[in-house]
Amino acid sequence: MKRYQAIFEGNRQWVQEKRRQQSDFFEHLANGQNPEFLYIGCSDSRVPANEIMGLAPGDVFVHRNVANLVVNTDLNAQSVIEYAVTHLEVDYIIVCGHYGCGGVRAAMQSEDLGLLNGWLREVRDVYRLHRHELDAIEDESARYRRLVELNVQEQCVHILKTACVQKQFMRRKRPTVHGWVFDLSDGLLRDLEIPFDEIMKDVRQIYRLGPDAG
Ligand code: ZN
Repeated sequence: MKRYQAIFEGNRQWVQEKRRQQSDFFEHLANGQNPEFLYIGCSDSRVPANEIMGLAPGDVFVHRNVANLVVNTDLNAQSVIEYAVTHLEVDYIIVCGHYGCGGVRAAMQSEDLGLLNGWLREVRDVYRLHRHELDAIEDESARYRRLVELNVQEQCVHILKTACVQKQFMRRKRPTVHGWVFDLSDGLLRDLEIPFDEIMKDVRQIYRLGPDAG
């Protein structure tokens, strides 16, 4: 129970510290949110969105799940995207994976993971899509890292296929979509600089929902 109670002590200290830095900090927070970023990341306890981005409360709208997936039929993720894009009008959507992701590693193995099987099948689908590239990487840890990156890329593509994202983009050329990977070993974020124009050329014909949809 001690560790549990210590959380409240930690919270009070945090409140004091925030008030010391900015006396109206909480009045400001209570007034509403206007974040520029939607961050979709992994639930992994080592990858806290605001902290690794150096951003304060109010700066980033966050969705996290195992292996940072964006699944078309996932009402939770789709609602987060809809709200962030249509109501908050975020300018940037970021999918952030991380090296050492347990969800991605599990999908590389043939173990039965119960309920997680269906969820992680999404990552297995990413492997299947990029099988030639991945199978050509002999070193297993290098292949694992590459799958983490390709998983981020494919989730970004899923976002670009979303109707609300395409509609907003047609209206105001925002939001743009970005794929990042966080490296646990040095704490640095890496922008994968995914060439979306090229990728979308292939899929645009099938998924576009309007004449200029990006
Ligand atoms: Zn993870």
